Amino acid sequence: MSFDRLWADLAPVGRSADSGGYHRYTWAGADTDARAWFTEAAAARGLDLRTDRNGNLWAWWGTPGPGAVATGSHLDSVPDGGAFDGPLGVASALAAVDELRERGFTPARPLVLGVFVEEEGGRFGVPCLGSRLTTGEIGPARARALTDASGVTWERAMADAGLDPEGVGPDPELLSRLDVFVELHVEQGRALEDTGHPVGVAGAIWPHGRWRMDFTGRADHAGTTRLEDRNDPMLPFAHTILAARALAEQHGARATVAKSLITPNGTNAIPSLVSAWLDARAADQATLSAVVEGVREVAERTAREHGVAHTMAAESTTPLVEFSHDLRDRLAAVVGARAAESAGPVPILPTGAGHDAGVLSAHVPTAMLYVRNPTGVSHSPQEWARPEDSHAGVLALADVLQDLLAVPGGVS
Ligand SMILES: [Zn+2]
Repeated sequence: MSFDRLWADLAPVGRSADSGGYHRYTWAGADTDARAWFTEAAAARGLDLRTDRNGNLWAWWGTPGPGAVATGSHLDSVPDGGAFDGPLGVASALAAVDELRERGFTPARPLVLGVFVEEEGGRFGVPCLGSRLTTGEIGPARARALTDASGVTWERAMADAGLDPEGVGPDPELLSRLDVFVELHVEQGRALEDTGHPVGVAGAIWPHGRWRMDFTGRADHAGTTRLEDRNDPMLPFAHTILAARALAEQHGARATVAKSLITPNGTNAIPSLVSAWLDARAADQATLSAVVEGVREVAERTAREHGVAHTMAAESTTPLVEFSHDLRDRLAAVVGARAAESAGPVPILPTGAGHDAGVLSAHVPTAMLYVRNPTGVSHSPQEWARPEDSHAGVLALADVLQDLLAVPGGVS
């Protein structure tokens, strides 16, 4: 299957020799190389490649225009991320085109393969930035001013990549061309390993978000400053991390503090500032709010107790996403037709992970396929899909696309 060649060509791009994890950050070296890999693969297939105003890539099979079926994912990674989150959907889309052509299938309407930029928010902090810009969920002025860890703006990075940042913004023309979007993605849990299915279909995406917290204290000497004289921001920060965990357990939600910046970050100096990010997700909005407000309360109270100032603000939030039920059931039926009868119905899986498909779903009928991940681990070098499951994913995607492409535009 052509998937293996595509995957082998992409595998070394941005992979750390030490950890085996990936470092692909938007508009920087490895991400640029991964985009070049896609561009070459599209050209080799005679697809018409376009870069949209926000830097997303679109490779068209058939004349670009309305009524299109779209599929794809992203190529950027979290720091030291896994190989599959994003790239599996892109490589599978390309391989599905090959599969459909081998079948001698002729689409009745255009197919377009998309690669969204900055899905992970790994460089500029806002996840699904490419799709959020396209749908207008984030404004161009805010996006252009976003900065990476070294202060480079989105505007500057985009210009350095040879693209025009002036054009950034909503793209209703592009959206109006898409009749349906299907994203294939590695599963970010172990549900399919438990049910014994290589491929599942997405249910809802939990509401989720990122909140930035700043604890501002006073720098001082670790040896000479009496404990009672300190304004040490690490202490309320520590309380807050533990509270996030406890609140998530109490509410059946997820809460994580995985990123923090400590100033000045010296061994023998009490810090003046701790900036940290809370990532929280829950099955419904009320539960999510309860967790986040609970964390805020503890952060404020413990900051006050230690004479530390505290602020907390949402950097991005995503409401509950319910994918189109018609489309979801249609995918499940198509995928189920290939599965062994003994396997039982194709699982419909809710997830706590955000995706471009979730952002698009408010504008275009959208669905997702998940490919089994035996480790259940994601955003880590341990993330994995067996080669035979990746192949099953390609075939499932090809079946689904064939079903959708067999009829002219206007279906959803
Ligand atoms: Zn992803």
